[in-house]
Amino acid sequence: MSFDTLGLHAALSRAVADAGYTEPTEVQSRAIPPALAGRDLMVSSSTGSGKTASFVLPALTKVLAARGDGTQRRDRSAPQGPRILVLTPTRELAMQVAKAAVDYGRHVPGLRVATIVGGVPYGAQLKALRGPLDVLIATPGRLIDHMESGRAMLANIEMLILDEADRMLDMGFIEPIHHIAAATPKTRQTMMFSATFAGHVGRLAEELLREPQRIDVSSHTEAHADIEQRLHWADDLEHKNALLDHILTERSMEQAVVFTSTQRDADWLADRLADMGHHVASLHGGHPQGRRTRVLQGLRSKQLKILVATDVASRGIDVPSISHVINYGLPMKAEDYVHRIGRTGRAGRAGLAVTLAERRDAQMVHRIQHFTTQRIPAATIAGLEPKRVEPKPFARTERPAGKSFGPRPNGRPFKPAGKTFSKNGPSRAPR
Ligand code: ADP
Ligand code: MG
Repeated sequence: MSFDTLGLHAALSRAVADAGYTEPTEVQSRAIPPALAGRDLMVSSSTGSGKTASFVLPALTKVLAARGDGTQRRDRSAPQGPRILVLTPTRELAMQVAKAAVDYGRHVPGLRVATIVGGVPYGAQLKALRGPLDVLIATPGRLIDHMESGRAMLANIEMLILDEADRMLDMGFIEPIHHIAAATPKTRQTMMFSATFAGHVGRLAEELLREPQRIDVSSHTEAHADIEQRLHWADDLEHKNALLDHILTERSMEQAVVFTSTQRDADWLADRLADMGHHVASLHGGHPQGRRTRVLQGLRSKQLKILVATDVASRGIDVPSISHVINYGLPMKAEDYVHRIGRTGRAGRAGLAVTLAERRDAQMVHRIQHFTTQRIPAATIAGLEPKRVEPKPFARTERPAGKSFGPRPNGRPFKPAGKTFSKNGPSRAPR
């Protein structure tokens, strides 16, 4: 399968060749033709599979079609509003999509792309909204702000794209999405990308899409072929830190994203690693946009070797040299595990995803394994083997009959009989 068979405009085929792509990924070859034919689509496909181009290329095709034969001049006096609207959950992802639109649109004459995201001043955004615009990429909250002040014109939208729709709903954007969609013409084409179409994402799809074609390239149960997964059991925080330090100094370590459960942990751990001499920064939703942009830039330019991040900050991190993803704090939801490990093994490179779990994390490990229907192979590092026996995440069925364990606070796994924790309980990072 080559890009030529997809029916792309020559300007786009050239840009794709400039990017060095020789053939479309599976999601691209399956989504682009129906998208070009005007169909509504609901697409799920694993992270790193090339979804961005699968909607940006059809979107740019619409822009090119509107340019006509190039003889018509745009009427600059009339406010025109964009033809294409892409909604993304985070600022980083919006920036990523914008970059893709500019890259793939490099041979589209006079292409105008703007981003409307939170955490940055309004001035430049207002200016972008006033001028002629082809593609608008926005996070829902800030776009709503501009709509309420009458600055965002959505009456000419021909194509609405929801990227990572599941994430947007998780972040509470259901109302803004409905509000935004209602401001666009009913005749629009709509494409929705989501890891899952279960539950409320499926209901949103029913409301926004017309006779959508469903494209399901790979489910979350499919192994990430390019990502090796490993699980290290840690006795306590000190042991966990020793494991982390070892992994971060391995020779194969090019760049790593270390995930923590909370913003506080991210800052705390980044400080600790910086004290040890690592080139490291933290990235989480509590940081101002300027800092987040700088940090991602530092990662891309390799000035930073380690990024300590929370889940919210993780989407939109697309840096192919990330060799390691390390789960220092487990995610709150099993599906976030899949998104985290998708930060490595990108663009066909090999990646390693290491999970450092303490005993109290056993239940989450179990939930992740259940969600992906894969076991994460347990591993040890010579000299840093856990002293305790490996916890049994499936302890429920192995409980000795007739013995009462009493209530289980916090939903944590049972302490195995005969073992005691240290006086202060399992030690932990500030959470
Ligand atoms: P997703 O949105 O599915 O997580 P992206 O669209 O961010 O994935 O693409 C992941 C990476 O793959 C990006 O670095 C992108 O440049 C690269 N990529 C996309 N399409 C192709 C292709 N056809 N050939 C080679 N690399 C590609
Ligand atoms: Mg994507």
